[in-house]
Amino acid sequence: MAQLYFYYSAMNAGKSTTLLQSAFNYRERGMTPFILTAAIDNRSGVGKVASRIGLEANAHVFEATTNVFELIKAEYERNKLHCILVDESQFLTKAQVLQLTDIVDELHVPVLCYGLRTDFRGELFAGAQYLLAWADKLIELKTICHCGRKANHVLRLDENGRAIADGNQVEIGGNDKYVSVCRAHYKEELKKAHE
Ligand SMILES: [Zn+2]
Repeated sequence: MAQLYFYYSAMNAGKSTTLLQSAFNYRERGMTPFILTAAIDNRSGVGKVASRIGLEANAHVFEATTNVFELIKAEYERNKLHCILVDESQFLTKAQVLQLTDIVDELHVPVLCYGLRTDFRGELFAGAQYLLAWADKLIELKTICHCGRKANHVLRLDENGRAIADGNQVEIGGNDKYVSVCRAHYKEELKKAHE
């Protein structure tokens, strides 16, 4: 039975590495994975998934208006696909998460989504919201805070290392940095930012 999986975490938990490892495992068994990532993410060039440990692979991209069901179905009809791997899945829209459920239910191809659960304000990303609601399997990829506790929050830091409490949900390419921390340290840093 094909299923929809959501591998979620804070920043820097190795989501892209896990995705690329999974793609490698499929290829090793003679199967064809289809890799999709958000067009919004230009850190490593459009159409590429890159991990911090140096692995990378070419990817198809989705924008907010892309019908991912039609995109994948067209490819599937040319070339049988064995799994769909979606990086930066927090950027999917509600409609696109629904389209991914159609891939699973109508084409019977497993879909593995990798993404952040919440933004630096502690709010759910739209893609994460509907993946949490509709996925068959939820898998947390864990990373740790500097204190050793599980990190489940993301802090946005300015160039001086101070936490930023407000701003747009997506700010790719700026000089801001993101770090994963536990909830207690998240609250502590935000309190300092408001002092
Ligand atoms: Zn901590």
